[in-house]
Amino acid sequence: MAVPKSKVSKSRRNMRRSHDALAPNSYHECSNCGELKRPHHVCSACGHYDGREVMESESL
Ligand SMILES: [Zn+2]
Repeated sequence: MAVPKSKVSKSRRNMRRSHDALAPNSYHECSNCGELKRPHHVCSACGHYDGREVMESESL
């Protein structure tokens, strides 16, 4: 079994974990209606994606 040669200090352990935090979800304005939407997802407000309507609008 592989065994660590020396104890990792709290400082080094915490520095390693400084990159482990989850990033908040990113949002971007829909180019059609301006509503906030997830990138690479169909807009939930107007159903547009990539400049054209690909889904029935939810608000009809
Ligand atoms: Zn939209």
